[in-house]
Amino acid sequence: MQIGKAKPFRTEGGKAATKHSRSLTSTCYDLRLRQTTPGLHWAAIDLRKKSCILAFVMPKKTRLDKFAIAAVLQEIAALLELKGGKDRFKARAYQTGARVVAGMAEDIGDVVLENRLTSMRGIGGALASQIEELYLTGESSVLRGLRKEFPPGIIELSGVPGLSISKIKTLHDALGVTSIAELKAAAEAGKIKGIKGFGAKTEVKLLETIAGHHQRAKTAERLHLHRALQTATQIVNYLQTARDTAEVAVAGSLRRCKETVGTIRLVGRTKQPATLVDHFLRFPMIVEVIEQMEEACTVRLAEGARVSLVAASPPEFALALLTETGSKAHVNKLQQIANGTGGEANPKRNKKAKPVKQPARTAARSSALQDEADIYEQLGMPFIPPELREDEGEVEAALEGKLPLDLVTLEDIRGMVHCHTTYSDGKHSIEEMARAAEAMGMKYITITDHSPTAFYAGGVTLDQLKRQWAEIDEVQEKVKVKILRGTESDIVADGRLDYPDQILEQFDVIVASIHSRYKMDSAKMTKRIVTAMRQPVFKIWGHALGRLIQRRPPFDCDVEHILDVIAESRAAIEINGDPWRLDMEPRWVREARKRKIKFVISVDAHSTGALNNLKYGVAMARRGWLRKAEVLNTLGTTAFRKAVRPT
Ligand SMILES: [Zn+2]
Ligand SMILES: [Zn+2]
Repeated sequence: MQIGKAKPFRTEGGKAATKHSRSLTSTCYDLRLRQTTPGLHWAAIDLRKKSCILAFVMPKKTRLDKFAIAAVLQEIAALLELKGGKDRFKARAYQTGARVVAGMAEDIGDVVLENRLTSMRGIGGALASQIEELYLTGESSVLRGLRKEFPPGIIELSGVPGLSISKIKTLHDALGVTSIAELKAAAEAGKIKGIKGFGAKTEVKLLETIAGHHQRAKTAERLHLHRALQTATQIVNYLQTARDTAEVAVAGSLRRCKETVGTIRLVGRTKQPATLVDHFLRFPMIVEVIEQMEEACTVRLAEGARVSLVAASPPEFALALLTETGSKAHVNKLQQIANGTGGEANPKRNKKAKPVKQPARTAARSSALQDEADIYEQLGMPFIPPELREDEGEVEAALEGKLPLDLVTLEDIRGMVHCHTTYSDGKHSIEEMARAAEAMGMKYITITDHSPTAFYAGGVTLDQLKRQWAEIDEVQEKVKVKILRGTESDIVADGRLDYPDQILEQFDVIVASIHSRYKMDSAKMTKRIVTAMRQPVFKIWGHALGRLIQRRPPFDCDVEHILDVIAESRAAIEINGDPWRLDMEPRWVREARKRKIKFVISVDAHSTGALNNLKYGVAMARRGWLRKAEVLNTLGTTAFRKAVRPT
């Protein structure tokens, strides 16, 4: 940024400052900006030299916030992507930067002014200087340069298949087209066929393509749960700044904690629904409005996420939240019950039950439905947690009073299970992991680094293991959280575990996982796991079916047979909270429950930050209807150790 000319003013030291004209870079100054005369200008003070330079920068009121800055970074990324070639790599860096900025928990101004941008993961020097420039001046020189290279509206228009950059430029030059809507209008008015390079056929084709594009925008790819949650949190934070908005709740498959999310659904409780929708439409990262009504809309964000918002007045909120949360099958089942056509009649049912309509606004208006629990109560059943709303027997169980009311919760978990350290492929030391677990209120942590067969993940050899145990003893002196000696032992191809028996017996806990030869046929794989589960030591079956969401399907094996064996063996099953694994799946958890098998909810953490995976693990457990008593790491330290002790 260039420092503008300004009147000299006195610094705190009393020395008159001189005019400067040089660029501010984060490396040469430790800068603090402070407002001198309100509304007039800002002064940048070089703390090390105790001199001061004057800067005309945007007054604080009109500064870009983190979302607006992220939106610019996204736009830069999109334009770099269009340029292609080497710029693709830069595009990715800007994309990451946009995500980091939009997700910042602290005030972006503080981070910029305290020169801490580059200390954030994913932000390098070049990106930091763009963010700094955006924050201080409201503009980006990089974006200015890029925009000159392309016709306006290029990002939206390039989403139409078959429309090259040069064609978009021609359309812009001839007709001033800058959006898909304008393109559609021009095609419908027959204006395109006359342009050189476009004929009548192309015009018809273009209209078809646009129709298809709208359809695709509605059904585009699903977001991974973890990403969806990040994006939803940002938008909820933004929406909560709207006037007269009491609450913005996450609904849809994200609230039901499905592995992937098609549309991020949000429901606002507001006295002024239309105002909230308007506020939402000003969210800087929106690139396309897919559908818009007065009290609801669906948009697409620059990063690709589809987001819908229903703005509901307070009396309508509960019903709107219920219907938006779904699943459709669950809501339909409730509707049938409300209509009196839903399966078995329930004698306890309130005769005055209101019908649940979709969208269920009018029904709610006349009744005092404060929250979802009131709706379930009217239907004669207890509140059904969102994670269970799949019409997989939960409504019937609720009507019969058989719904588990003590589903495991995050607060129930007492110990972090399945943690890696620098001994194998983890990022943090034993002490760092232990302290982080302690800070999260845990009573114990199990250190389970990889075993030697997992050489690519730095599997721990016997020598290293001895050293690790000594280090655990040392760290234990310094922390309250109990550190348990564990391993994530590979289940090798023939089903044996990876350390000799006399070593295995010395662990406090063994997680047994498959990390290789995923493509074995079903019979072999089943035999391999059955052999492992029948080993005499107690073990926890780690990330059971080896799936990686959206990347690798679960491997083939006879799960029911394996569950039968586990029920007879000294073993438990892990629910892995790594958001890419979320293994085992809820349907299998329910099968295992029938056999009275016990579980642990693990984090499979490779860093202190990943201890936050716990929430995903708990969500998956709840989707599998797991009760607190079925989860071993809800036990206190002594009871847990006893329950998982190998021998
Ligand atoms: Zn593993
Ligand atoms: Zn692991």
